[in-house]
Amino acid sequence: MSSHLLELRGLRTAFPTRAGEITAVDNVSFTLDRGKVLGLVGESGSGKSVTGFSIMGLIEPPGRITGGQILFDGIDLANLSREGMRSLRGRRIAMIFQDPMMTLNPVLRIDTQMIEAIAAHEKVSRTEARGRARDALAQVGIPSPEERLDAYPHQFSGGMRQRVAIAIALLNKPDLIVADEPTTALDVTIQAQILAEIQKLTSERGTALIWITHDLSVVSRLADEIAVMYAGRVVEYGKVDAVINRPMHHYTAGLIHSVPSRNKRGSRLAQIPGMTPSLLDLPAGCAFRTRCARADTACEVPPALISQAGHLHRCVHPTNEVAA
Ligand code: ADP
Ligand code: MG
Repeated sequence: MSSHLLELRGLRTAFPTRAGEITAVDNVSFTLDRGKVLGLVGESGSGKSVTGFSIMGLIEPPGRITGGQILFDGIDLANLSREGMRSLRGRRIAMIFQDPMMTLNPVLRIDTQMIEAIAAHEKVSRTEARGRARDALAQVGIPSPEERLDAYPHQFSGGMRQRVAIAIALLNKPDLIVADEPTTALDVTIQAQILAEIQKLTSERGTALIWITHDLSVVSRLADEIAVMYAGRVVEYGKVDAVINRPMHHYTAGLIHSVPSRNKRGSRLAQIPGMTPSLLDLPAGCAFRTRCARADTACEVPPALISQAGHLHRCVHPTNEVAA
């Protein structure tokens, strides 16, 4: 048994392709407790969404979980039946997608969709369910929630539509929410508002939150812990302050230096050279070594997990290493 609300142990998720099998998530482990926020960070294609979808039981065949465990309150989601997963999803675990139309049905009124989301897991009267739906819309900052219940998704702006999707995720008071870049498509002010609201609602209720993003500056404000992913693997993981203030892996350091900040205004932003390698053709050992200035032959073997500077990383030549 795990004492954590969620514990991933060596999760592997793979997709067969014509060119060979892709391991999109490779030996990923982390823990998450109630009321905490874990930021899952990395460039596009690093396996963040596949990790989230694996937790939600939403990996479509022929893709599949090929190894490891996803322990949620003592239940291994990696080996749960479709039925078992369906009874948890939307009730104890919920997902907010980048595109709210992944949650919303374009041809149904919002009240119908929200009442269905409640009725799928609980026996309640229509009047009570409608009242709860209205309260949920109000909670995420939708004006005139009573009238808006009668509207269809296309009658909302992009930002409001995402708020509706968030309201649906919150509806059954889940223990865990996986939010996959839910504000990336929105403009910056709306992004900040929605972020603050989700944070408030989850911390009030003790909901655990996985916040997936490619934007390190967002997550460093929001998260308690962060896991940095590169090519399907976690390369650095721990308390947000430890990781941000003392990154040990050169990939994390590169990400931090490429974030614009006030004190760096006017100076050029550093960029990580090169491109993410293809998952079909990863370099042996540390997958980042082909882009890393510090790499040498020691990086050609799989790097062990090292505990240093108050957190975990996988780098044989960490950033604080004194050159020989
Ligand atoms: P991220 O969310 O970090 O941008 P993803 O988790 O979506 O990245 O994808 C990780 C890798 O898995 C990518 O190389 C992507 O092409 C691959 N992948 C994701 N879904 C599928 C799929 N259904 N079939 C084949 N490959 C996939
Ligand atoms: Mg993604």
